[in-house]
Amino acid sequence: MSRSINLAVIPGDGIGQEVVAEGLKVLSAVLPQDVKLETEEYDFGARRYHATGETLTDADLDALKRHDAILLGAIGDPSVPSGVLERGFLLKLRFAFDHHVNLRPSKLLPGVATPLAGQPEIDFVVVREGTEGPYTGNGGTIRKGTPHEVATEVSVNTAFGVERVVRDAFARAQARPRKKLTLVHKNNVLTFAGHLWTNTFNKVAEEYPEVTTDYIHVDAATIYLVTDPARFDVIVTDNLFGDIITDLAAAVSGGIGVAASGNINPSGDYPSMFEPVHGSAPDIAGQGKADPTATVLSVALLLRHLGHEAEAARIEDAVSADLAERGALPARSTSDIGDALAARVAG
Ligand code: ATP
Ligand code: MG
Repeated sequence: MSRSINLAVIPGDGIGQEVVAEGLKVLSAVLPQDVKLETEEYDFGARRYHATGETLTDADLDALKRHDAILLGAIGDPSVPSGVLERGFLLKLRFAFDHHVNLRPSKLLPGVATPLAGQPEIDFVVVREGTEGPYTGNGGTIRKGTPHEVATEVSVNTAFGVERVVRDAFARAQARPRKKLTLVHKNNVLTFAGHLWTNTFNKVAEEYPEVTTDYIHVDAATIYLVTDPARFDVIVTDNLFGDIITDLAAAVSGGIGVAASGNINPSGDYPSMFEPVHGSAPDIAGQGKADPTATVLSVALLLRHLGHEAEAARIEDAVSADLAERGALPARSTSDIGDALAARVAG
């Protein structure tokens, strides 16, 4: 645990600006006096793109690399052609900093509405592979625009990439009380990648005798996430399956307003980046309607990643207490929720 945190702050677009301000408010309030917080703000997103045509330059990567961690709001704006910021900023940064672990916890807190019947026990973490699978841009099109067009989108799975994310997931499962890890894939149909994942999973499992292991096909996993989410503790899965099941997980465990995530490079060679799962929400931007809770919970993940466990837990407890009371309160603005959470973690 370091006594100083040098944080890169990327508010980005739309509500990203609003929710990051509240995340920083809570971060400042929770840190003990003797931990020095330094922040540097970057203008990535639509502002930078319109001003210069750039998304993320090599000089930007050099600057970002010097920080301990990155806090991101959201990137994406209707004024920028679709895909430009996603590929030019988000994917570029993920590959440059080798953020191969995408961590997405789902916990249904008391008092939070869920579309599921009753109030099921939901407390699991998805470890999604972040740099391989079908998201590497490996593929192409031939006979484009003709009735005979052929498009391929190759799923890349390397022994190195699969093993490191599987190892990360086992270590996370070992550290949790239930110590259960579920591999989600589709190894009966996607047999080449499926066997690499399954064999790697079974091999690493031998080193973790205390971890209970389980395998579920991705289609069945979508059923269990709705009918029996309590069966999950830690899930490890590939990039595409993880993308899809974590949206479902967010939907059943309190929604987009509370879903936090981390893009992690466990080696520490590059800073990890923490962000709410939601986007820039142009439909409500600038109106003080955005819920900053997902960003505040992302700050907790950031603190835990940097070794500040006690402060991370204080933020999570403050969020739990705030959500438990929320139903009884009139709707509050973004900054009112941030103020309330900052007051709870400070007091
Ligand atoms: P992206 O492509 O950037 O992920 P998206 O199209 O998936 O964006 P979001 O920006 O996440 O969409 O918004 C989806 C919906 O959820 C919108 O109606 C938005 O207003 C709502 N929403 C998103 N984040 C929040 C929030 N923090 N608080 C309240 N509502 C939100
Ligand atoms: Mg989205």
